[in-house]
Parts: sequence; C-alpha cells; structure tokens
Amino acid sequence: MSLTIRKTIVLGLIGSILLLGNIMLVANWLADKGVVDWARHLRADYLTGTAITIIVVLLILLVTPGAGVTGLIRRCPVCDHVLVGRGKYCGECGSKV
Ligand SMILES: [Zn+2]
Repeated sequence: MSLTIRKTIVLGLIGSILLLGNIMLVANWLADKGVVDWARHLRADYLTGTAITIIVVLLILLVTPGAGVTGLIRRCPVCDHVLVGRGKYCGECGSKV
C-alpha cells in the first residue's frame, strides 16, 4: 500500500466522518437545492431494475482480471525480458511480442 493511497484513505475517512456528523444539514441543503427531487425523478425514469441489471453485468464483463499492471509491463515470450510500454518488438532479442 503506497503513501498516496494511505493519505487518500485518511482524508476520505475524515471527510466522511465530517459529512456523517452534519448529515441532517447536508440532507436539508440538498433538499433545498432541489437535488433530491431531481434524483428521485431520475431514478424513477432511468434506473429501473432492468437498467441496473444491465449496468452491473456490463461492469462485470468489462473488468478483465489483472489488466492494470500487465497492460503496461509485459514479458517477452522468447527471452523473458521485461518490456515497459506498448512496443511491438522486444528490445533485448528483437522478437515480436
Ligand atoms: Zn525478447
């Protein structure tokens, strides 16, 4: 776990605690601004059960396992040299990746 992730978690925790402490204030402010009515209208019109099911299925289908790291850092299938970036040829042995 890197330092940036830890800082983000701590800041998010502090922010959510502050938000929870003033939850009634936030809810009243959102209702005053018309955000609650707008979201209710949006949910009734667009977020039906079918739409939620389709969104969830798409999210599951779009996530390929281990795509984050292996997309940029690969290994040459011939000489096992570490390749950084999306080059088509290995810099060590020159074979096509
Ligand atoms: Zn190679």
